[in-house]
Amino acid sequence: MNVMEIFETMEYGPAPEAAAPGLAWIKEHSPFSLFINNQWIKPASGQYIESINPATGKLLAKVAAANSADVDAAVAAARAAFETWSKTPGHVRARYLYAIARHIQKHSRLLAVLESLDNGKPIRETRDIDIPLVARHFYYHAGWAQLMESELPGYQPVGVVGQIIPWNFPLLMLAWKIAPALAMGNTVVLKPARYTSLTALKFAEIVQEIGLPPGVVNIVTGEASQVGEALVSHPDVNKIAFTGSTDVGRSIRRATAGSGKKLSLELGGKSPFIVFDDADLDSVVEGVVDAIWFNQGQVCCAGSRLLVQEDVAERLIEKLRVRMEHLRIGDPLDKAVDIGAIVSPGQLKEIQRLVNQGVEEGAVMWQPSWACPTEGYFFPPTLFTNVSPATTIAQVEIFGPVLVSMTFRTPAEAVDLANNTRYGLAASVWSENINLALDVAPKLKAGSVWINCTNLFDASSGFGGYRESGFGREGGKEGLYEYVRPKWETPDSSSKEFHIADDSASSNGSKSSLSMDEDTEDALQEEAFVSSNGHAPAFPVIDRTPKMFIGGKQARPDSGYSRDVYDLRGHVIGQVGEGNRKDIRNAVEAAHKASGWAFGTTHNRAQILYYIAENLSVREDEFAHRIVQQTGRSYEDATAEVQVSISRLFSYAAWADKFEGVVHRPPLRGAVLAMPEAIGVMGIACPDEYPLLGFISLVAPTISMGNTVIVIPSQQSPLSATDCYQVLETSDLPGGVVNIVTGDHDTLNQVLADHDDVDSMWYFGTAEGSKRVELASAGNMKRTWVNYGHPRDLMDSVQGEGEEFLREATQVKNIWIPYGE
Ligand code: NAD
Ligand code: MN
Repeated sequence: MNVMEIFETMEYGPAPEAAAPGLAWIKEHSPFSLFINNQWIKPASGQYIESINPATGKLLAKVAAANSADVDAAVAAARAAFETWSKTPGHVRARYLYAIARHIQKHSRLLAVLESLDNGKPIRETRDIDIPLVARHFYYHAGWAQLMESELPGYQPVGVVGQIIPWNFPLLMLAWKIAPALAMGNTVVLKPARYTSLTALKFAEIVQEIGLPPGVVNIVTGEASQVGEALVSHPDVNKIAFTGSTDVGRSIRRATAGSGKKLSLELGGKSPFIVFDDADLDSVVEGVVDAIWFNQGQVCCAGSRLLVQEDVAERLIEKLRVRMEHLRIGDPLDKAVDIGAIVSPGQLKEIQRLVNQGVEEGAVMWQPSWACPTEGYFFPPTLFTNVSPATTIAQVEIFGPVLVSMTFRTPAEAVDLANNTRYGLAASVWSENINLALDVAPKLKAGSVWINCTNLFDASSGFGGYRESGFGREGGKEGLYEYVRPKWETPDSSSKEFHIADDSASSNGSKSSLSMDEDTEDALQEEAFVSSNGHAPAFPVIDRTPKMFIGGKQARPDSGYSRDVYDLRGHVIGQVGEGNRKDIRNAVEAAHKASGWAFGTTHNRAQILYYIAENLSVREDEFAHRIVQQTGRSYEDATAEVQVSISRLFSYAAWADKFEGVVHRPPLRGAVLAMPEAIGVMGIACPDEYPLLGFISLVAPTISMGNTVIVIPSQQSPLSATDCYQVLETSDLPGGVVNIVTGDHDTLNQVLADHDDVDSMWYFGTAEGSKRVELASAGNMKRTWVNYGHPRDLMDSVQGEGEEFLREATQVKNIWIPYGE
C-alpha cells in the first residue's frame, strides 16, 4: 500500500466529546421544575413531559408540563418585575446582560453538550456556532441597554413579553428573544419547544447565578396547547415574539388580532440558493453543504432550493454527489460528524413522507451509498433533480436534509424562480461577477441575502422575513423596535377619548368629534355662501363629481352607484363613487403594475413629493374651504390643517433620500448592507379625524419609501382626498402609485385586508375595524399597522410623522458581502 492509497482509504476514527458532564447535570435536576420568579416551582398539574436523545431514542430527562395556572403565575411575576426593571437604568441592565454573556462563555462546553444531547445536532455546530452566537447576542445587546437612553430617546419598553421558540436552535432562539427584550427594559415569559427545554433550563440557572432580579426572566416548559396558547391569549401580556412554523404563526396572528399585543413572527422558508455559471463551483459545493446539511436541514433559512444556471448544472450536481458521498452522519457528540440526528420521530416521518411524494411526483432522488445508523432518528442527505417548480417538494418547507435542484438560463429567470415561493426569509447568490450579484440581490424578496456565502448570522445584522416568512427583525438596531413603543403612547391612552393637545399647531379648539357647537354652525352657514374662489356665486356652481382614481386615471365605480357625502347638519355636499370588490381588485392590479416606483431614484421620489406640496399650496384656500364644508371646523383651523399637510409632504420629500440603511461590521472579513426596502403594495385606510391631513400623513411616507398604495379615504369626509387626485395628476406622479377608492369603509377595508396581493395594510379607524384587519391579514401574513381605535393627533409632529411611519413603510434587507481573495 502506498501513501496515496492509504490517504484515499483512511477512515476517521471516533473523536467523541464526553457526555458525562451533561448527563450528570441532567441527573442532578431531572425532573425539572418551572423557573418562575427566580425559583424552581413544581408544575400545578404535577405532570411532566419526556425529553429524549434523538441520537439514541432514549429518555434524557423529565421536564415540567405547565398549564395555564403556571402561565398566570409566570406572567404575574414578570408584571411585578416590570415595575422596577423598566425603571432600572440602562447601564445597570447592561451590566446584567454582560454578566449573562460571560456566564454563557463560562458554561459553554456544558451548554454545547446539552444542546447536542437534547436536539441531536453535531457538537461541532453547537460548540462552534450556536453557543458562541448566543454569547455574542448578549454582549451586543448589553451595548444597546447601555445606549438605549441616548439612542432611542422617544421610546419605552413594551411591558411583559411572551416568547415562544422552536427546537432547531433552542438556546440561540432563546438568546435572540431574551437579549433584546431585556436590553429594552421588558420582562419575559419564555416557552421553549417541547423537545428541547434543557439548555433553557441551564440558562435559568445562569439567571440565578448572576442575580438577575426575580421575575425578569421566567421559563415555562410544556405543551404548545397548554403553555403556548395560554401565553398567546393572556390579557396581561403586551407582546408575543414567536419563531416557528407559518401555520402556527398564522394562528397566533388570528388569536392576538385586535388585542393590541405587539407581534413579531419569524416563520418558515424555502430559500433559494442561486448559482450562476461563473461561480467558483468548489466553493459552491461547500456552500451547499452549509446551506442544507447544517443542522440536518432543520433551519428556517436553509438553502433548500438549488437554482443552477443550465450550462454548469451537470458539473455541479456531479461534484455535489461526490461530496455527499463523503459526508459523515452519526453520533452528534462525535467531533468528526457532519450530520447528526433528526429531532423527533414525528419530524423524521414527515421528511420521509415529503421525500416519497417527491419521487411520486416524478423527481429524481439521489442519496449516498452509505447507510445511516439504525439506532436513533437519522435521515441521509438527499438530492432531487428533475424537479419542476410547481411540485410539492419545490414549494413546501421540508425542514430536513433534502435539497431540490432546478435550472435557469438568464438572471431574470433566476430571479423569477427564486421569488416563486410564498416565503421570503433568505437567499444565497453565487457568482464571481460582483455586478451581477449586487444587481440580483435587491430583486430577491428575502430578508437576508448572502453573496458567495450562506447561513451567516450575527447579532449586529437583523434577521427576519418577507411575505409568509413573517415580519419583524431580530438583531441589529431594527430588532430593538420590536421591543419598544413610543413614549407618548401611555398604557391608559386606550381609555382616553381622542383629544387634540393644547400645545399643538392647531391651538384654536379644532374638533374631530361629530358634536356641533355654535362656531360650527356659523362656519357652515358662512361656507354655504362661499364658492371655492371665496366669492359669493352668481350662478349655481358647476357640479363636480369626484371619481375614484385608479392607475393614474379617474375611474367611475364598477357598481355604477354613488353615495352621498353630508356635512354635519346632514346636508348633502357631494357624491363619491360607491367602490366595490372589483374596484379594489383593479386598484391592486394598478399598484402592482407601478412597482417600478420602488426602483426609481430617491431623488426623483423626493422631487415629486415636493411638487405635490407645491401644487397643493396653490390651492390652499380651496382645500381649507373643503375641510370647513365637511367638518364644520373654523376656516383658520382648516387652513392650519392644509398647512401642516404641505409641511408633511416636505418632511417626506426630505426623508425620501435620507431614510437610509447602514453598513454592519460583523466579525467576518466583509460587510453587511442593511437596506430599508419598500414593502410593496400597501393598503391604507384613512382616519376620519382630518380629511386632508389623514390622507397626506399616510400616503406621503409610504410612497416616499417606494411603495405603491390603495387608499380608502375617510368615509365621513372623503372629498379632501378625492380633491387630491387633481393635485397628484399635475405632479408627475406615475399612474398606479396612488390609487383612491371611495365607498363603505368596512367593506373596502375588508377586501383590501383579505387580498393576497397586498403586502401590508395600515388601518386608522375603530377598534373593531383594527381587529378585522389583523384577522384578515393572517391569510397571506401581510404586515399590518393599526391603531386599535386610538386616534393619533396627526397635527402633532411627534405623533403624526417621522421615522415610526417610515419603519412601518419599509422592511430591512441585510446583504452579506464577504471579501478578500
Ligand atoms: P412550531 O410552529 O410547531 O412550534 C414552534 C413553537 O411554538 C414551539 O415552542 C411550540 O410548542 C409552539 N406552539 C405550537 N403551537 C402553538 C400554538 N397554537 N400557540 C402557541 N404556541 C404554539 O414549529 P417547530 O416544529 O417547533 O419548528 C419548526 C418550524 O419553525 C419550521 O417551520 C421553521 O421554518 C420555523 N423556524 C423559523 C425560524 C425563523 O427564524 N424564521 C427559526 C427556526 C424555525
Ligand atoms: Mn430532546
